[in-house]
Amino acid sequence: MKPTHIEHLGIAVNSLEESIPFFENVLGLSCYAVEEVAEQKVKTAFFMVGQTKIELLESTDPEGPIGKFLESKGQGVHHVAFAVEGLQGYLDSLSEQGIRLIDKTPRKGAEGLNIAFLHPKSTCGVLMELCEHPKA
Ligand code: ZN
Repeated sequence: MKPTHIEHLGIAVNSLEESIPFFENVLGLSCYAVEEVAEQKVKTAFFMVGQTKIELLESTDPEGPIGKFLESKGQGVHHVAFAVEGLQGYLDSLSEQGIRLIDKTPRKGAEGLNIAFLHPKSTCGVLMELCEHPKA
């Protein structure tokens, strides 16, 4: 069992409107989707880099996870997401190895992916997300 690739890198930003021009005009990427994930209290913008995405996260509520992150740390890398196959099996196996999980079972994330977060206390201080494309 190992991840197939880095699915995306999540970056917390104060404002999508102010951040998107850097990725488009300076890096030359193009934003192909903007999506609000109400449950996570965020608005996201996506860019493709090879098979990896950059996911910008703007908070829609200061009490939400990104709102709190921005408040304590400011803008910056928020999480790394690995693509895996067999997400539930992964979570069960990690749990058996004593890894702390934020999500014991997958839930829906942006772009219809099944996602689960691992606790940064168990992952070198970096919030990690595992995600799986739902079976068609
Ligand atoms: Zn993510």
